Amino acid sequence: MSVGGRVVPSVVVGTSEATAPSSCPRISEDDRLPAVLISTILHTTFLLLLALLTLPEAGDGGERLTASQGQSSSLVVLRTLEVQDDQRFDSNSAMDQPVSVSIDARVTLASLSSEPKEEQVEVVSDEMQQLVAGGGSTGGELLVRLPSGGGLAKRTPEGRLEYGAKYGATRESEQAVEAALAWLAAHQRNNGSWSFNLELDPCNGACRHSKKQGTESPTPSTGATGLALLAFLGAGHTHHHEGPYQETVRRGIYFLRDIAGEAGAGLDWQQGSMYGHGIALMALSEALAMTSKEQFGDADLHRLVARGASFTCNAQHENGSWGYVPGSPGDMTVSAWQVLSLVAAKKNHVDIHTNALSSAKAFALSTCKDRDFWFGYKGPPGEETTTAIGLALMLYLGQSTEYTPFYNALTDLADRGPKLQNVYHDYYATLALHHSRHHAWDEWNSKLRDHLVRTQAKKGHEAGSWHFADPWGDIGGRLYTTAMCAMTLEVYYRYMPLYEKVDDFPL
Ligand SMILES: [Zn+2]
Repeated sequence: MSVGGRVVPSVVVGTSEATAPSSCPRISEDDRLPAVLISTILHTTFLLLLALLTLPEAGDGGERLTASQGQSSSLVVLRTLEVQDDQRFDSNSAMDQPVSVSIDARVTLASLSSEPKEEQVEVVSDEMQQLVAGGGSTGGELLVRLPSGGGLAKRTPEGRLEYGAKYGATRESEQAVEAALAWLAAHQRNNGSWSFNLELDPCNGACRHSKKQGTESPTPSTGATGLALLAFLGAGHTHHHEGPYQETVRRGIYFLRDIAGEAGAGLDWQQGSMYGHGIALMALSEALAMTSKEQFGDADLHRLVARGASFTCNAQHENGSWGYVPGSPGDMTVSAWQVLSLVAAKKNHVDIHTNALSSAKAFALSTCKDRDFWFGYKGPPGEETTTAIGLALMLYLGQSTEYTPFYNALTDLADRGPKLQNVYHDYYATLALHHSRHHAWDEWNSKLRDHLVRTQAKKGHEAGSWHFADPWGDIGGRLYTTAMCAMTLEVYYRYMPLYEKVDDFPL
């Protein structure tokens, strides 16, 4: 699928076996997907999949998700996650409150500064120490303690000014964000969704560079909608707070609510790809985090996030990754969206199985072989884009920047510089360098920021959007590229750095 910037691999093969134990519900041996799935049937079978989901099925006390694979006799059986309220994840619970933001400057942040400060991330087990060093699991349960930073509280007019100035936004970059949001709003469909296919209304082909035609990669509208919503949310626009995009965001959220598939083991936004699910869940999680639970409708939103996260956990492969297909061995790009959406859900007091994130971390590290923190797609060898993704993921999963090999890997990333034509690489690299408060941030930022300002379409119907001649961006087209570029330019205030002590709520 496109948003990952990866063509659906022609062959999906498990490249690494589980290195981390997990009691997350797993596909049994008998029911495991065949090791090889030909991509030409992947898309079509998964369009069928949505219609073929059947459940729930009583029996062993848990619901079962049965997904038929079209003409194949393969069967995916996922058992309902037994929610375990693990207190180890609740060490930050006093800080994990929703953040009220307002784009019209009426919110006050005074109350936020009175919250207790949390010590920064730490590694909490011997096993994880080995993982941090790039080693594998020695068995036993792995724990990940989420960092306390990464909050959303600066997504306000004041926050945009303060943190934009602090971390390197310019008047021009802020204008570019506004232009991008206007373009995105103009491309919302009547049902509240967005589509990567710009041949559809309301664009009707007026923009060049729609999603790549003829590709076998699923390009779900749930993914497009999630990406667009993330761009609005990143600038402080929510469905609750008055502002020019309040209805835009509300309609997008309603679309995701209405299209959610009941899968027994959770809610499903795949539309043919786990990309769609992960991105949609991340958008809903951020929307929930930004709105008060006291306000009408948030209980419903919380339920959507909780059940979506349940589906995500159930869809994880035993090696800790996620693939296009639930339960299949996956890759760094699909897995990254699932991890970030689970982290966001967890911060909303949604129960996430403790092993989901630690086994995801084990998977990420299993793709490094040749050198520390040089991440591969499904396994070694490493390459630059998956390394950018991997470094960002590691930060979210509790990696300390105090660990020299990791910091060196961040420095290497900064030294290589932004790719400029590869927004997927640059987005994750920007997240990694921002969150780590890397010493080369200013140089990195000024180069990428000014490039994005310079290359944004300035005239006509395409004004506010981006497109690069990038084989990955071509697949998702102009809508994917525009949302990713907008989020890149929002980074200053979109997330508080994960590893900097700030007077702020965590995400
Ligand atoms: Zn258009």
